[in-house]
Amino acid sequence: MLTGSCHCGAVRVEVPRRPRALTDCNCSICRRYGVLWAYYAADTVRILCADDALDAYSWGTKELRFLRCATCGCMIAWVASEPREGGRVGINARNLDPAAIRTAKIRRLDGADTWKYLE
Ligand SMILES: [Zn+2]
Repeated sequence: MLTGSCHCGAVRVEVPRRPRALTDCNCSICRRYGVLWAYYAADTVRILCADDALDAYSWGTKELRFLRCATCGCMIAWVASEPREGGRVGINARNLDPAAIRTAKIRRLDGADTWKYLE
């Protein structure tokens, strides 16, 4: 298990293992957040915080909720608005220990247009 936290420490994240690959997406929201996504099965990740510690943002079809720390603003994760069995979550690997993601491959996703990886 690997843990991470936002800058102020109000939100902690537990993931089951180091990410092997990280996604750098160029869609309209990810490019602004500047995050690196690590994907996990939703039931393997825990987001630990007080009930009021997260703010959420949804847009477009509102299928996803982007969760950020309400105190320091760090992007934590995207989660499904209506979670289903076998679903995934995207965890912002920028909040993990840099040493734990140093060797992960960074894949550039063209989420803005073709929704394909660029390499
Ligand atoms: Zn915080």
